[in-house]
Amino acid sequence: MKSVPFLDLGLVHREIRGALDEAFKRVLDSGWFIMGPELEAFEAEFAAYCGVKHCIGVGNGLEALHLLLRAYDVGPGDEVIVPSNTFIATWLAVSECGATPVPVEPNPLTHNIEAPAIAAAITSRTKAIMPVHLYGQTADMDPINELARKHGLVVIEDAAQAQGALYKGRRAGSLGHAAGTSFYPGKNLGALGDGGAVLTSDDAIAEKVKRLRNYGSQVKYQHDVAGYNSRLDEVQAALLRVKLGVLDQWNGRRKAIAARYDRMLAGSGVELPFVPEYADPVWHLYVIRSRNRDALRAHLDRMRIATVIHYPIPPHRQACYQAFAGAHLPLADQLAGEVISLPMSPVLGDDEVDQVVSALLSFDGAA
Ligand SMILES: *Cc1c(COP(=O)(O)O)cnc(C)c1O
Repeated sequence: MKSVPFLDLGLVHREIRGALDEAFKRVLDSGWFIMGPELEAFEAEFAAYCGVKHCIGVGNGLEALHLLLRAYDVGPGDEVIVPSNTFIATWLAVSECGATPVPVEPNPLTHNIEAPAIAAAITSRTKAIMPVHLYGQTADMDPINELARKHGLVVIEDAAQAQGALYKGRRAGSLGHAAGTSFYPGKNLGALGDGGAVLTSDDAIAEKVKRLRNYGSQVKYQHDVAGYNSRLDEVQAALLRVKLGVLDQWNGRRKAIAARYDRMLAGSGVELPFVPEYADPVWHLYVIRSRNRDALRAHLDRMRIATVIHYPIPPHRQACYQAFAGAHLPLADQLAGEVISLPMSPVLGDDEVDQVVSALLSFDGAA
């Protein structure tokens, strides 16, 4: 039996290989590698795609979130509300500013945080809310924005997993005051290396982030603030322009694969992803839940089906967050023990989906 890879990035790039070669050659021939025309063009194109005024390319997704928090003057003594079940970068961006991440448990069906639980976590120190559009599906943003408005808080989306996702017809990245996104190779819009971007329609914040990513400088050798070096390079920007051109098409294939999984796994007993009416997800990951997760995963492994756990250890259980070791976050703990991500990519074939499904159905007690 053939094995089914989780995500075959070599195969993913094969169909656009010619255009990627062209883009790389263009940059190589230009002799210009940092802060040039490819970055400017990509920023304009991705901002337009997301429906925001500004896109600012930065070094990676963590830096996008970190620089944004800096731009909003989040610092020591401030609290930022984050999901209890997210990739650790969401928390690290807050910690890097000297601020405190305040974890909120998600809705167990959508895996995203919601306004009522967020409201209960707001204190006089709260400065910002950072919802994550986990697995490629947006959080329910209208009530979160309304809550933030009432309390004078900033809403920063962690849109790293949601390039192209829609919320009531609006793109992820345009749903709060600002957003950070990641072009890590495995993301829906992935570079061939590290990359990230800040998205916002706020002119002042965009200017601040532009300074912060480039040593705190807008005019060469003139430094207004103590900044960082976190820029999206010309090669990655040129390659991302090619990949932005196929993003909708590739997201469309992910949707078809998710629909096939949904259809074929209905009634199997495993808990399938739940999509609320407001969301049009882009299926960065297809995540199911099982009480027998580890045995199921071992079974799939024996059947040569590659799976991944997103994420096996929640941030509050990490050695780097010992101050949170006593935190009562039972849902994050439970999800970490039950979630399993099935193979998902724009090049996964129907036959491979069928192979995953039959392997899954042949497991006794998948539910
Ligand atoms: C990938 C990811 C990030 C960080 O992106 P990097 O580019 O790897 O730094 C942040 N948040 C979430 C939810 C992610 O999935």
